[in-house]
Amino acid sequence: MINGETKVYGIIGNPVGHSLSPLMHNAAFREKKLNCVYVPFPVSDVSQVVNAVRCLKIQGLSVTAPFKESIIPLLDECDESSRKIGAVNTVKFNGVKVLGINTDWIGAVRAIERKISLKDKKCVVIGAGGAARALVFGLKKWGVSLIVVNRNVSRGEKIAREFFTDFAPLDRIEELSCDVLINATPVGMFPREGETLVPKSWLKGSMLVMDMVYRPRMTKLIRNALEKGCEVVEGLEMLLEQGIAQFEWWTGEKAPRESMARAIGLT
Ligand code: NAP
Repeated sequence: MINGETKVYGIIGNPVGHSLSPLMHNAAFREKKLNCVYVPFPVSDVSQVVNAVRCLKIQGLSVTAPFKESIIPLLDECDESSRKIGAVNTVKFNGVKVLGINTDWIGAVRAIERKISLKDKKCVVIGAGGAARALVFGLKKWGVSLIVVNRNVSRGEKIAREFFTDFAPLDRIEELSCDVLINATPVGMFPREGETLVPKSWLKGSMLVMDMVYRPRMTKLIRNALEKGCEVVEGLEMLLEQGIAQFEWWTGEKAPRESMARAIGLT
């Protein structure tokens, strides 16, 4: 029940109407019997957000596109990981300061590690945007060998230089081999769900294939991978893991995985 003591959390983005995070976090608050609520905040001007957090005593925010990068200079502090990635997806107000971290890299790595060990694996990451940067940062922490693949060569080479990985242009992906393939681009997302950047013929049953896209849940890439006998990690699984990391940072309590997974349709 919402009352005078209720703590407010939310998500900022533009748009945010499609977000599954309100379902996921409100389910977690209910399960843990915390007097908290999580609401969507459609935002057009990010410059006012940090003042609003302080003024309205908003306890925590998820940050989604297009504000993950632009919120950084507005925060009082952000951790070293989010600074290296150049993106913050989680904000917390500790009563004095507005702090930022990035849980996308944690979510991506944990979602993969629940299926296979990343130790000694060779990974191909497609993309050079914010999601790819978080992923590459996380995979490098695990010490995997990594090739970044991107359509735009200079953008791809830039992230490869920055994170000390190899680079290959997208049109040469079929010359590569790997154990783990991750799509970190929006290709395959609703309403263009028939698209994939990865030729089905190149997929091998020994690969683990992850798609960060979660709308639709079964992307063309994931369907092709399942047909080839690959282990898969769906975008929803990453969404769940990054949400668990957010919940635990905000509340200091262990997140109720089952309730959160059920709320976003994962079980
Ligand atoms: P972004 O910045 O828009 O991604 C840009 C990247 O996608 C660039 O590398 C771009 O290549 C590539 N790209 C876009 N359209 C392409 C096309 N038609 N052909 C080839 N490459 C194309 O997006 P983002 O913020 O990094 O996010 C990427 C995806 O991850 C989104 O769908 C997002 O929803 C998802 N995501 C999921 C989670 C989760 O929890 N599951 C978390 C974060 C993000 P160029 O450089 O060549 O333009």
